[in-house]
Amino acid sequence: MRVLKFGGTSLANPERFSQAAQLIEQAHFEEQAAGVLSAPAKITNHLVALSEKAALNQPTDSHFDEALEIFYNIINGLHAENNKFDLAGTKQLIDAEFAQIRQLVEEIRQAGAVSDAVKATIDCRGEKLSIAMMKAWFEARGYEVTVVDPVQKLLAHGGYLESSVDIEESTKRVDAQSIPTKNVVLMAGFTAGNDKGELVLLGRNGSDYSAACLAACLKARVCEIWTDVDGVFTCDPRLVPDARLLPSLSYREAMELSYFGAKVIHPRTIGPLVPLNIPCLIKNTGNPAHPGSIISGDVESSELQVKGITNLDNVAMFNVSGPGMQGMVGMASRVFSAMSKANVSVILITQSSSEYSISFCVPAKSVKVAKQALETEFAKELANQSLEQIDVIEELSVISVVGDGMRQAKGLAARFFSALAQANINIVAIAQGSSERSISAVVPLNKAIEAVKSTHQALFNNKKVVDVFLVGVGGVGSELIEQIKHQKEYLAKKDIEIRICAIANSNKMLLKADGLSLDNWRADLENATQPSDFDVLLSFIKLNHVVNPVFVDCTTANSVANLYARALKEGFHVVTPNKKANTSNYEYYREMRENARQSQHKFLYETNVGAGLPVIENLQNLLAAGDEVERFSGILSGSLSYILGELENGVTLSQATKSAAEKGFTEPDPRDDLFGQDVARKLLILARETGLPLELEDIDVEGVLPANFAEGKSVVEFMQEELPKLDEEFAKRVEKAKAEGKVLRYVGQIENGKCRVAIVEVDGDDPLYKVKNGENALAFYTRYYNPIPLLLRGYGAGNAVTAAGIFADILRTLQH
Ligand code: ADP
Ligand code: ASP
Ligand code: MG
Repeated sequence: MRVLKFGGTSLANPERFSQAAQLIEQAHFEEQAAGVLSAPAKITNHLVALSEKAALNQPTDSHFDEALEIFYNIINGLHAENNKFDLAGTKQLIDAEFAQIRQLVEEIRQAGAVSDAVKATIDCRGEKLSIAMMKAWFEARGYEVTVVDPVQKLLAHGGYLESSVDIEESTKRVDAQSIPTKNVVLMAGFTAGNDKGELVLLGRNGSDYSAACLAACLKARVCEIWTDVDGVFTCDPRLVPDARLLPSLSYREAMELSYFGAKVIHPRTIGPLVPLNIPCLIKNTGNPAHPGSIISGDVESSELQVKGITNLDNVAMFNVSGPGMQGMVGMASRVFSAMSKANVSVILITQSSSEYSISFCVPAKSVKVAKQALETEFAKELANQSLEQIDVIEELSVISVVGDGMRQAKGLAARFFSALAQANINIVAIAQGSSERSISAVVPLNKAIEAVKSTHQALFNNKKVVDVFLVGVGGVGSELIEQIKHQKEYLAKKDIEIRICAIANSNKMLLKADGLSLDNWRADLENATQPSDFDVLLSFIKLNHVVNPVFVDCTTANSVANLYARALKEGFHVVTPNKKANTSNYEYYREMRENARQSQHKFLYETNVGAGLPVIENLQNLLAAGDEVERFSGILSGSLSYILGELENGVTLSQATKSAAEKGFTEPDPRDDLFGQDVARKLLILARETGLPLELEDIDVEGVLPANFAEGKSVVEFMQEELPKLDEEFAKRVEKAKAEGKVLRYVGQIENGKCRVAIVEVDGDDPLYKVKNGENALAFYTRYYNPIPLLLRGYGAGNAVTAAGIFADILRTLQH
């Protein structure tokens, strides 16, 4: 005997229904088959809504209409496929059931309430009609059918909405011997009868359990659960597309996975199968050729120590604590017997080692009852304050890692928790199953999906994913895109994936949760219709549960820099070459860092100073190790390094500037470089890094050009008419310096808390003496590096080195 259970999606329309029927027929061809059916998809939800809405006197017509439409559609389709199918007869049955439901719904509306008993009789009608339709299908094909009435044959104990089946008594009632072997057996899922013969339910999703009960009663060879996925996966394949299929798992593993939320089977499904050693096979109705997953008592040891990761949502945590709890014998048992008396199921328990508190989780729907039960049980202790007020944290989710191999595995818990930390998820509580087959962490409900994704990545893929949200696609931004594209394969070998989920310019943006295709990004961006909007980005990361979003700003705009504080607070890392944020007022400078600290996200801006040169990181490391910067002196501008270097070779200032501009070393308007503001910003960033709370106005800036030089003139006028006026003066300055064995350098200096940017004459001993041709050089004179400074030197500008520096910062977001 084979038992085959079909879930709602496997019966949702005539094609699927007929496919399910054929699978039962094929099975029956080889050995007797029993079909256990759920209601067609959506039907139970409509029925549940009917009684709930009627009790509140809300309209119910749409639920009737939509449910009827589903049934009519199925029977019409089955009749079209085989005209022997009794269309009139099944339609009559459907109409009769619905007439009864309408009557009950009217009564509920009048009474303004619904009892559990009546609710149960309404909610299970979908299953009853599935059986009527399936019976008609088999009869049309000439089979004889035995319908097992679950109300008469499955004895169950518990409430009307969630009962458990007594297998021993039910086995007697089903009496396998009495069923003719040629008959196809059918039974409605979800339903049973209590000892008064009243209809009761087995809980939502309970048809799997019905099938297991029937399999046990019939001592079937196998219990097959036919659903809409190929089997049991390492986590819900709808949440994590790269979830892996598990070909086999043990009864215990399946129980634990379903208990902690894997919806693929109802948690009680395995229980009845274990004593009879009946294997449970999970199969896909849409892909019957796939072998599926087998759940059994003897599983070959697999290389997977962890079998799955689950989330059990809508959970609340109670915390019972107080000085009176220390050493109080029987506290825990009083807590849990109060819960059991109140019929509240306790999902998970943790107790602090001091015995000062007990925490446990219950389903959200039980919070009220549970709280009342505790307050009644501990009324005395609460009154005399030996217990504190009972604390409830709501909107939580339990994330569990499950596997038989976990008993031997070392370091799994650490990997689990560090995956949660990486996704920046706060762990409210931790519990280990007594069997050591599971570890659970309680986390905020709105982080559940990120938690599952991140844990799955860490335990199964070992893969780290960064999701980049890029704003600004000028020279540096587009170079960054190219570099990321180019490094894809290299990083994949190191189990790192960088996905660009957004590309934005000042007008429009492209968005895609699993990464944009970068082949035609420029054209795609041009054709994009979504206006650039930071709020849209924020809701996008929340909606798509993006685990590791990094906001990368390759603009020079103040408006984008002003978003960082919010971005850091809302869950982005921020990586930026844009100096505007770090040189805005000191208050904002502090706010960004405070937000980053609080949300445990990274704010990285290595490219603010010296482009790709590792300046900020080295400086931070030195300071962290206790060193102190006594003096700093550096050439921080590539264009001025080039221009002043050229002067030494006898080139005039205007010519040197012209050729720097032609080489792309300067800003479009070279005055932006020559006034020294850009160097001042870099110096301010370094100064603030060393702890000086300065503002931009505090920097003493002497430009290469006198203040207001060539004001109001165009770039061309400035270059052709104005700048040459300074050539002679500069030639003289260079000559004078040369006579003293010195050269002119545009230098930023920090000393005694003061910052100054100016042209400085440096001699041959100075490390900046040889720095020209567009190079940057930074000399840190510190307590440890003295008298010879720590010197960083190299190209400090250019799209390629800047993009590479940003790239390195993006990768740094993966470090802890
Ligand atoms: P049915 O209607 O057939 O009873 P369900 O919707 O109750 O189907 O259960 C199947 C669904 O369970 C799948 O579509 C999948 O989204 C979900 N699911 C959750 N966790 C897992 C898992 N670990 N493996 C497979 N499916 C899972
Ligand atoms: N139809 C019921 C439900 O939706 C039972 C089941 O599908 O297993 O909960
Ligand atoms: Mg189900």
